Amino acid sequence: MSEHYDVIVAGGGVMGSAIAYFLGADPDFDGTVLVVERDPSYADCATTRSWGGIRQQFSTPENVRMSLFATDFVRAAGETLAVDGEAPDLAFRERGYLFLASAAGQAVLRDNVAAQRALGAAVDLLDPPALVARFPWLEVSDIAAGAFGARNEGWIDPSALLHAFRRKARALGAVYVADEICAIDRAGAGVAGVRLRAGRRLGCGILVNAAGPWAGALAALAGIELPVRPRKRTTFVFDCREPLPPLPLTVDPSGVAVRPEGAQYLAILSPPEDQDPDSTDLEPDHSLFEEVIWPVLAARVPAFAAIKATGAWAGHYDYNTFDQNAVLGPHPDLGNFLFCNGFSGHGIQQSPAAGRALAELIVHRRYRTLDLSAFSFDRIPAGRALREVNVV
Ligand SMILES: Cc1cc2nc3c(=O)[nH]c(=O)nc-3n(C[C@H](O)[C@H](O)[C@H](O)COP(=O)(O)OP(=O)(O)OC[C@H]3O[C@@H](n4cnc5c(N)ncnc54)[C@H](O)[C@@H]3O)c2cc1C
Repeated sequence: MSEHYDVIVAGGGVMGSAIAYFLGADPDFDGTVLVVERDPSYADCATTRSWGGIRQQFSTPENVRMSLFATDFVRAAGETLAVDGEAPDLAFRERGYLFLASAAGQAVLRDNVAAQRALGAAVDLLDPPALVARFPWLEVSDIAAGAFGARNEGWIDPSALLHAFRRKARALGAVYVADEICAIDRAGAGVAGVRLRAGRRLGCGILVNAAGPWAGALAALAGIELPVRPRKRTTFVFDCREPLPPLPLTVDPSGVAVRPEGAQYLAILSPPEDQDPDSTDLEPDHSLFEEVIWPVLAARVPAFAAIKATGAWAGHYDYNTFDQNAVLGPHPDLGNFLFCNGFSGHGIQQSPAAGRALAELIVHRRYRTLDLSAFSFDRIPAGRALREVNVV
């Protein structure tokens, strides 16, 4: 193979671009980086179809820590990701997340909040009178408690983050190529290189899987089973005639989530696991709004009884069917094949910490800032699930 790169990153979405940026930004790294992205328009990838939410309200401690870093990173991004004096605008809206629990979910919510607070997250547990005082637009007759993150939670523009990472990574030396990896060549206990759809064969020192919802398919090219699948999620856009104060991203006990987007609102619902097949299409599940989501919204926020759906789009979660958590680091048998996958609906906020973590593994061969070894690949063949229960 004549062409060789120290690191080839498969997929140039928010993860691949975050890894390329953190490699370039590490003063101890002087290698070559190639990011292979089959669709530089990013029309169908998870990143550009995402809600861009950042929250500290997770059940896995590492996830809380990763999101705390995300907020710090987003606040500083105007400086760190600036290129030629041009600062990106990630449009951070620090409006908070509000998780609501019925009596059945109250104990789990309370335990989660205690664990999150112990890790430094600013999350308040509110009883129904406190909820009504703070959010008068809310119907709480069936609610036992709510958890509200008043600081460090909200949402950003996910495309802006992707393009800011990509632009800075290129400024720091990463090369992007528009092509598809269609084969992976193995050699002994490692990966020797990749083959591209257009015909090129490239050698590499390290291959990183950052193929998002298609990470399972990419791993299969090397004969590896990775339980990450594309799972369809439909976002509905609606107008509400009655003006409301700024809403946080509100998660109903049913799982329906809603947040403002400019003058409109977005709503989404993840189906139960047994009704959540792998998906290849991006056709919105239109019936979901009238039949399931709208009745929940109308009962929870009386002003939402009179709303008008104005649009919908579908996107794919990069869903880890094993335990809904990230898979980070090398494969146990193929030491130079690294994974950055399976974020299951929380990859935007995890991209700064995951990108930094992969760069640390590549350059320093260990985690230096945040220990994310709980997410290592070997937990999967060992059957050691690290289940995240707060998946929205
Ligand atoms: C509706 C929706 C809402 C979401 N909301 C949130 C949220 O509020 N907060 C949050 O943190 N996360 C959220 N997420 C999740 C988040 O968007 C993803 O976890 C994240 O974008 C994953 O980034 P990625 O770079 O791994 O994947 P992607 O953005 O999908 O990028 C992967 C790239 O790999 C490329 N690729 C794949 N295979 C190959 C190949 N063989 N060769 C070359 N290129 C290849 C693809 O073209 C793609 O561009 C949401 C996702 C969806 C769909």
